[in-house]
Amino acid sequence: MAKVIDWLNQNNKLLFSLEITPPDRGKNMDDILSGIEPLMHFDPQFINVTYHQPHMVYEEKDGVISRRPRRKKPGTVGICSAIKNRFQVEPVPHLICGSFNRYETEDTLIDLHFLGIKNILALRGDPPPGQARYIAEKDGHQYAGQLVEQIAQLNRGQYIDELEDPFPTSFCIGVAGYPEKHFESPNLDKDLFYLKSKVDMGAEYIITQMFYEFRLYREFVEKARAIGIQVPIIPGLKPLVSKKQVLTIPSSFHVNIPSELVGLIEDARTREQAFAGGVRYMARLVEELLEFGVPGIHVFTMGQGHATRALLETVFAGKR
Ligand SMILES: Cc1cc2nc3c(=O)[nH]c(=O)nc-3n(C[C@H](O)[C@H](O)[C@H](O)COP(=O)(O)OP(=O)(O)OC[C@H]3O[C@@H](n4cnc5c(N)ncnc54)[C@H](O)[C@@H]3O)c2cc1C
Repeated sequence: MAKVIDWLNQNNKLLFSLEITPPDRGKNMDDILSGIEPLMHFDPQFINVTYHQPHMVYEEKDGVISRRPRRKKPGTVGICSAIKNRFQVEPVPHLICGSFNRYETEDTLIDLHFLGIKNILALRGDPPPGQARYIAEKDGHQYAGQLVEQIAQLNRGQYIDELEDPFPTSFCIGVAGYPEKHFESPNLDKDLFYLKSKVDMGAEYIITQMFYEFRLYREFVEKARAIGIQVPIIPGLKPLVSKKQVLTIPSSFHVNIPSELVGLIEDARTREQAFAGGVRYMARLVEELLEFGVPGIHVFTMGQGHATRALLETVFAGKR
């Protein structure tokens, strides 16, 4: 089934999706694809591919400083196409507001439509490295909700310019949600208010930011339902299995790491022990989510196929 929402509505099997990141500019895509190859026997129905804003590079030549955008990780659309061909799995490209004006967004949507891509995760995007806050392009979108609205309009055949007999696209639109609130939001209620507006604009499901306590997901779903958000909310999970991640994950993703998990990693005598402790902790979290009755599981692999594999082997041993 090509669309995430159709899969969620018509299957009573758990949805399982993976998220990968394009390689750095100049690197081969095959390294990324071969990294997820061992995960294919867990039968993911969808593979998400992230999108990244360019950052500004300043160069001095003959005393003149010039500035040019440089995208460190290009290739999202190409990788999506390669995934379809190589694995016969539906790709879900992420589309961001950052660095696009709405005319470029429309052209990208047309490319994706012509490639037969049926799903999009619509995001505002993170500011590029070295930039403290998000700045929209001229004629671009300030918030993900506006991108959702543009995609939904194209699905109704409404292009930016009025066209004669325009062909509608048919994208299933997902958006991001934050159990611990988005870092810029003053509080979770306000953030949920805007999450609801993304759903009202046309988003059909939500994937959450990573979290490390079941309670956070449950409370988030309860609050979302209480304000009328009825779409499926898929938990996003990132295995945390090393001391380095204890330092980097909270600052990069603005999430809390509970003391129990920090202890398991920091008190481990070897890397292998830390890895095993992190996998055990994550497997218990997944069990709690499955028991709660989540519609699916989305794993952020971020170049860590081995941790994802260990987690899936622990959770799904004998079940898939
Ligand atoms: C599953 C997942 C996948 C991701 N993939 C990528 C990726 O591929 N590339 C990437 O760069 N980043 C990615 N991100 C990170 C994401 O882009 C950042 O967290 C970004 O800062 C916010 O994106 P958003 O789509 O949630 O933004 P929005 O929904 O626009 O929200 C951003 C902030 O603005 C507030 N807000 C929203 N609408 C309004 C409004 N109308 N008026 C006032 N305030 C408003 C919200 O409360 C929030 O604080 C991902 C995040 C998740 C959870």
